[in-house]
Order: sequence, then C-alpha cells, then structure tokens
Amino acid sequence: MESSAVGYTVQGRPIELQTLSPRAGPVRRWVLLLGSVHGDEPEGVWLLDSAMREWADDYLFRSTGVAAVVCANPDGRRARTRWNASGVDLNRNLPTRDWTASYRHKGNNPGPAPSSEPETRALLATIERFQPAAILSIHSMRRYQVNINGPALEWGRRLAQVCDYPVTEDIGYPCPGSLGTYAGAELQIPTITLEVQRGLRRSDVLKIHSPVVQAAVAFWDE
Ligand SMILES: [Zn+2]
Repeated sequence: MESSAVGYTVQGRPIELQTLSPRAGPVRRWVLLLGSVHGDEPEGVWLLDSAMREWADDYLFRSTGVAAVVCANPDGRRARTRWNASGVDLNRNLPTRDWTASYRHKGNNPGPAPSSEPETRALLATIERFQPAAILSIHSMRRYQVNINGPALEWGRRLAQVCDYPVTEDIGYPCPGSLGTYAGAELQIPTITLEVQRGLRRSDVLKIHSPVVQAAVAFWDE
C-alpha cells in the first residue's frame, strides 16, 4: 500500500491518500473511495480503514486500482463536527454550476466561495489525478440509502442488493456544491453516496457494509 498526503486541512493535518493496485499487470481504471467528508459520520473511516487493511494483505481485483481517502475531513473527525475547522460543509463547497453562498441550516454552510477550503481542493486534485471510473463516498443518515448521481444506476442497484437499501436519485433536498452534483451530474463520473444507517455500532457497520465496499470495486473489475 502506498500512502501520501494529498493536501492539508485548515488546521494543518495531512489528508492521507492510500492506493492499492494489482501486483500483475497495469491498472486499467481507478475507483475512488472517500470516507467521512462529514466529520461526525465515522462509518466511512471504519469501513475504508478495514477494507484497505484487508486488501493490502490479499488484493482481490485484477485490473482495478483503489484510491482511498479514508478520512476526507480530519479536522471535523477530530472535533466530531459535520463541518471542517472553518465551519464549512465540505459537501456544499465543490465548484458546481449551481453553487450558491446562501444556505438555511448552519450545518450546510457552503463557505465564502466554491473550492474555498483546502480539503475541497485536495479532493479536486485527487479526482483530476486519478480520473476515476467511479466514486463511492460513505456517509450516514437516518434515511439510509444508496444515492446515485451520474451514470450509476446499475452500480447502485448492485450495491443496494448487497445491503438491502433503497436506490435513490434524489436525496430529498437540493445539494448545490455536493460531490454527487459535481462529479456525478456534471463530470458524468458514476458517483454513489452510500448513506449508512445512522447509529449502528462499528461491528454492525462492518458486518453489513464491508461486503458493499467490496462489491463497489468488484463491479468495475474485469
Ligand atoms: Zn454526510
């Protein structure tokens, strides 16, 4: 496993990128995995940390590389806040065409400008560098779902089969500046926001969703 910092947070913590690829043969495509864009949603860190450790010992995929930012919001994770250390919702800060400075809830502060946050710029640089075939970002909420953006319907259905969650194309409210809008709707990269059921114990999250994470990469592997 290779590990490097793709950027630094508002408070100077490294944003770590881990990559794994097949031992034999070239990487034909990358799948990008993101955890805990919202710092108070630890499920993504639990799942990706576990998956990357397992795959480092026993890599299952033949032609697909995995690029993982296990924790996309380290300051928020440390402080257990949804937002980063500037109080910005990183999933409203991406440079979408519909980005807007206005917001209704404190938790959805999109920041002073699109891409104003270093965590957002690190994510953009990662997408630019890997040109991923698909992106899975792991969140949690009460209304658990496999939320798809861009050409991700078949992929989403596959994951929904594994965890018995509904597939949704609309999360229920507008999300300007979100990854789904930016990468999925605008760049047309198949993008899934996996909303794990909020409040599960770590052991249950791993039991239910580790197979989902594995299926998410396996879907693209040929
Ligand atoms: Zn979230």
